[in-house]
Amino acid sequence: MCGIVGYVGNRSIVKTLLDGLKRLEYRGYDSAGLALLEADKIQVVKTIGKVKNLENRILNEYGEIEIAGPSAGIAHTRWATHGAPSERNAHPHLDSSGRFAIVHNGIIENYLELKSHLQGKGRVFVSETDSEVLAHLIAECYEGDLLSATAAALKKVHGTYGIAVIAVTDPGTIVVARHGSPIVIGVGNGETLIASDVSAIAAYTQRVIYLNDGDLAKITAETIDIRNIENIPVSREIAHIDWNPEAAEKSGYDHFMLKEICEQPEAVANAIRGRMDKGSATAILAGLNMTTREMAQVNRIVIAACGTSLHAGMVAQYFFEELASIPVDVEQAAEFRYRNPIIEPNSLVIPISQSGETADTLAAVREAANKGAIVAALCNVVGSTIARESGRGIYLHAGPEIGVASTKAFTCQVSVLLMMALLFGRNRRLSREDGLKIIDDVNSIPGLISQVLERKEAIEKIAKKYAGAKDFFYIGRGCLYPVALEGALKLKEISYIHAEGYHAAELKHGPIALLEAGVPVVALANNIPGKDKMIGNIQECHARQSPVIATATDGDNEIAGIADDVIWIPECSKFAAVVPTVVALQLLAYYIAKERGCEIDQPRNLAKSVTVE
Ligand code: GLU
Repeated sequence: MCGIVGYVGNRSIVKTLLDGLKRLEYRGYDSAGLALLEADKIQVVKTIGKVKNLENRILNEYGEIEIAGPSAGIAHTRWATHGAPSERNAHPHLDSSGRFAIVHNGIIENYLELKSHLQGKGRVFVSETDSEVLAHLIAECYEGDLLSATAAALKKVHGTYGIAVIAVTDPGTIVVARHGSPIVIGVGNGETLIASDVSAIAAYTQRVIYLNDGDLAKITAETIDIRNIENIPVSREIAHIDWNPEAAEKSGYDHFMLKEICEQPEAVANAIRGRMDKGSATAILAGLNMTTREMAQVNRIVIAACGTSLHAGMVAQYFFEELASIPVDVEQAAEFRYRNPIIEPNSLVIPISQSGETADTLAAVREAANKGAIVAALCNVVGSTIARESGRGIYLHAGPEIGVASTKAFTCQVSVLLMMALLFGRNRRLSREDGLKIIDDVNSIPGLISQVLERKEAIEKIAKKYAGAKDFFYIGRGCLYPVALEGALKLKEISYIHAEGYHAAELKHGPIALLEAGVPVVALANNIPGKDKMIGNIQECHARQSPVIATATDGDNEIAGIADDVIWIPECSKFAAVVPTVVALQLLAYYIAKERGCEIDQPRNLAKSVTVE
């Protein structure tokens, strides 16, 4: 998720680490820290906030940045998943003896189990993070060789990691390992660097080794020894990179937006990981912090949100009503705050905000809390104001979203809301069997997204054909109605084409007056309830000469026969269909904007986090 940098060699270690961290700064994070390996101890410096704060702290403590003495160093920028952003939770983490230090990206899923085992052996934990177990575990496994100790520790771990380890037992050495979170080694002349992203080190060397999942490596200034977890040597090629800071930051993608669209299978997998309970056919959402009795007493849900998050809320209305039979109102957050909403003691208010800082949504949280509602927020940014003030809620774990047009946050919101509806459903009328079907639906989402991503060239072709249009309409029914709104919003945001999303039935109550040749209609005609009516709506568009781009379920010849162009969506349940369909619309908007030469990552007039009313 966030950043790792490490260095052994003759340059100033602190300066090189800080420089690497700064190059990773574009990702956004909450705290930073570094650990320096000295002769008989490890020095750790941490701060919350920007790398600049860390730099100032080092200047205060050491008086200068060019500190002589350390033989190796590791550094980290944290994007908190477990435990609030704080100095104590910032990485690096030490074991109880202070002789081993680690930095970690990813999530250790079985950390609670490991932690209580290690506490039983007298090890004292100082942070709330999942990562700290790694430091204690490696120390516990150490029998004279740091790489073997790391391998032995990682064998006990479930989850994802990119880690770097230093130990007083091994001067001038860093051990790294990767499983699900990238680690790259920079090969220099008499120096070696490690990082989670090539952008952190590419200014120093163009020769890099990308570790594979399952690889560990022991590096010194002169040597790189790569092994698998069974301690068997493996060989990895040295790749040559052409240094282009922008491209490296985007990991080779043309834009952050495309990178984030393509990251969605992994982002959703992170959002659902560890949150499904097949045994009880329900979801585990500990952050909600509600007893089954409290959940059963909820008689109304109010969702307050803005923009893309509002569309996720509209999708959730279908989930909660159908699975849990709870009446749901979805409110534009700014309206909620000024309209004197009716909130009863058993109302649950769910604010949704990617950044957790959206001003109107925050005001809605305060209004709801004043009126005695239970408030449970859905945010991506850990420790954000809305997350903190709500007191309870669910984090998305989507990873930092940099593209102004939200993509992966939306698909993670929808996935988490489906799990939440499952939980409330199982708490009341949903059968075990139906609960298991929803679990299968949620688990199918990452794979469905991957299938749509594999079809992106076909979507690009359609985008090129229609990129010259001045107006677009998007229509949908059922839980694909909010997807039509979201598809139109994506197109507006990044291509500046005027686009309107409507319920398909609403078209003939006014907007149909605007249809004519040259005004494309994107019709969400997947094979879900309402498709028959959608066929009629497509015909109505055709009768006005509007070209129709339809989304359709794989193999649906009926839709292929009446649409001008088809974007194929894999077969899936109606609830799961929301996500692959929206991913297809994100790609359509992206490629249209690209064809028009728009500034996709910095669309005019927009800001990532809307912190003003
Ligand atoms: N799960 C770890 C934590 O919460 C690592 C987060 C990260 O990847 O930055 O500290």
